Amino acid sequence: MTGELVLNPGREKSVLLRHPWIFSGAVQSVKGNPVSGETVDVVTSKGDWLCRAAYSPTSQIRARIWTWSQDEAVDEAYFSKRINTAIVNRQQLGLFKKSDAIRLIHGESDGLPGLVADIYGRVVVIQALSAGIDPWKMEIARILKEQTGAECIVERSDVEVRKLEGLDEFTGVLIGKEPAGEITINEAGLRFGVNVLRGQKTGFYLDQRENRMLAGNLAHGRRVLNCFSYTGGFTIHALAGGAEDVLSIDSSAEAISAARRNMELNDLPANRAIWMEADVFQALRNLRDRAETFDMIILDPPKFAPTAAHAARAARAYKDINLLAFKMLRPGGLLFTFSCSGGVTTELFQKIVAGAAQDANVNARVSHWMTQAADHPVALNFPEGHYLKGLVCEV
Ligand code: SAH
Repeated sequence: MTGELVLNPGREKSVLLRHPWIFSGAVQSVKGNPVSGETVDVVTSKGDWLCRAAYSPTSQIRARIWTWSQDEAVDEAYFSKRINTAIVNRQQLGLFKKSDAIRLIHGESDGLPGLVADIYGRVVVIQALSAGIDPWKMEIARILKEQTGAECIVERSDVEVRKLEGLDEFTGVLIGKEPAGEITINEAGLRFGVNVLRGQKTGFYLDQRENRMLAGNLAHGRRVLNCFSYTGGFTIHALAGGAEDVLSIDSSAEAISAARRNMELNDLPANRAIWMEADVFQALRNLRDRAETFDMIILDPPKFAPTAAHAARAARAYKDINLLAFKMLRPGGLLFTFSCSGGVTTELFQKIVAGAAQDANVNARVSHWMTQAADHPVALNFPEGHYLKGLVCEV
């Protein structure tokens, strides 16, 4: 018998609004001893059928909904259909014309809670972020191989959030031969080496694609400071766009070595780029003390606030770096400032940046509101899917 979750009275509301998460507090009882990741039926306190979901006994998110249709089974055909829809959506948006590195599946927003899949040329990298995906990962890998023609499917489930789901971390090749070294991808005509087994996230920050292109378009003749530069995404776009020079800062030596290789891949003159392995918080203070100034500053820090509970501490960190950046911008300069923290809303982020400008005694206007690229869509029934916020501020 299929396991069953019975909800507390009234707690069917969010399910009926099609929010894909069922929290532990909504569950009255569990029938049939389902194991972690198993598909269960979810019913109201009166026994009315609501949806089919993946059970996760250790997580606060006790179940993630697969389907609201009683006649839709959760089987291989189900995954095949959802994966196909996600890929076709991206084709229809023309995304494969901009790059051969694209997020194919963006979890809940593509109707596949807990699953991320990114394609890099002929390699697909998947991440299983919830208990419900784990039992299906080999089927998912086979379907992705078949639908994309990829040679190799890699799993990068080396992420903290798996602990909350009671799962161990895992990294490895699921199908095909391990890629030898870096895969070279093409983003808007520029080339980047991506190490899918050792790089951060699944290898590259695909969500910033559009924003890197915008920075490239606005960089001509500017002296640029790129903070949290990773493998040089914004740096390479800025130099290709005619920036005078770019100073890039990151704390990862490995990322900086990869960035230098990316300079060569694009035949960009090494003397226009300076790479600094340092902590950005300290490095910005040193630059300020030396009275350095720039025409464009990029701040793309890691997630300071995974949830709203960390918002206050995160706000101080954002304020700090944005304040220092405003102080070093020349008149007419542009600040590209980002937050990828789910716990910080667009409104809060804008307030923090406004406070930083005020304290720096700078008048600034927002010329562009930026967000995650279109291959990271946000389902309207899942606003949590919107995490990347960015402002271009002109001083
Ligand atoms: N803008 C990049 C992605 C940045 S990801 C791109 O478009 O590809 C964030 C980066 O910040 C990572 O490379 C990480 O190594 C670096 N980082 C994290 N904390 C840091 C710190 N305190 N100082 C400097 N770099 C840091």
